[in-house]
Amino acid sequence: MDCTIAIIAGDGVGPEVVAPAQKILETVGRSFHHHFKFRSFQAGGAAYDTYGETLPAGTVEAVRECDALLLGAVGGPAWDSLPGDKRPEHALLALRKELGVFANLRPAVLLPQLRGACPLKAFAVSGGFDILMVRELTSGIYFGRRGRSADLSAAFDTMSYNTDEIERILRVAYTAAEGRRKILTVVDKANVLETSRLWREVTERVKTEYRDVVTNFLYVDNAAMQLIRSPSQFDVIVTNNMFGDILSDESSVLTGSIGMLPSASLGKKSGRSFGIYEPVHGSAPDIAGQNKANPLGTILSAAMLLRHSLALEEEARAVEKAVEAVLDSGCRTLDLADSSTPQNKIMGSKEMGDAVLSAITSPEKPR
Ligand code: NAD
Repeated sequence: MDCTIAIIAGDGVGPEVVAPAQKILETVGRSFHHHFKFRSFQAGGAAYDTYGETLPAGTVEAVRECDALLLGAVGGPAWDSLPGDKRPEHALLALRKELGVFANLRPAVLLPQLRGACPLKAFAVSGGFDILMVRELTSGIYFGRRGRSADLSAAFDTMSYNTDEIERILRVAYTAAEGRRKILTVVDKANVLETSRLWREVTERVKTEYRDVVTNFLYVDNAAMQLIRSPSQFDVIVTNNMFGDILSDESSVLTGSIGMLPSASLGKKSGRSFGIYEPVHGSAPDIAGQNKANPLGTILSAAMLLRHSLALEEEARAVEKAVEAVLDSGCRTLDLADSSTPQNKIMGSKEMGDAVLSAITSPEKPR
């Protein structure tokens, strides 16, 4: 297969986690006889420092010509005092909106190797858990009208959804649930919010087309509690932009570390899935430049890229199996290490990337 993958490393730990993931994609390309080209772009704080804008003109169009985008993270204290529409995070929202990636898939799986790193009591996670969070990504309160009163002493943000936006994200979630344990939990705040009541109305209609999926509704405050109490009860969770942002960070830490979680943000481009693939975490300024960041969330995002945008399932599994093999061998980045981890198994971002790289097995069958 011939394809072009756009790369935006971004700020903070972004370059430290993207470099190993790109190396792995290069190796997979070679081993499985594909021709992967890479095109690098700047966005976020680094782009602001170079070009005076966080999303330089022409970036969206150039990325759109590629088959998928692998992204690190943007933002950091150096740019925190910029006005809202100049901040690095704004570039990310604009990229998502302009590229139409409305469905954010965030799998949170407790791997048996990392059970000890999960902060919950053993009995709550004895059977592990495998949750797929489906977050609406291009609407809701992050994209609604916002502003300040003339004297700046009051502010407002608005959450708005229309039926088309709700229906398309529900369909992504129902389709995913059909291929899994067939339980869909719609998380909302329908006891207070009008948008949530519309989500429920649309769900009641759409669910009749997915009869073998069980649909549950849960208020977001209860969902936050249930995720801690008993994460294994969940299969697929679908929710709006803001609730998904918060709950997926909560579920990430249950997997051992926020550094473990990958994500895929999907839309449609000429009938196939275009996606932005990035770890769930941010630019982690507190550990940036120290070779301490866990690159596995980004490496697993690269596996999602192979699966969802390039339809290369065998190659995606090869990356995931390599990550599992490295964890089996006891290797840990600092965020995953505990008192039982031998000192010689604690490694930096680069060394962890290299370990995964050497665990990738080439296809046995000649092609
Ligand atoms: P963060 O995710 O960057 O960091 C939260 C905590 O998790 C920190 O203690 C950090 O050290 C740790 N952490 C994060 N990634 C890690 C990794 N790979 N390995 C080990 N530990 C890791 O969240 P934050 O501190 O709230 O935000 C920092 C900056 O990142 C802010 O500017 C924020 O706006 C931005 N941000 C960007 C994105 C994105 O680009 N998608 C997402 C969230 C936050």
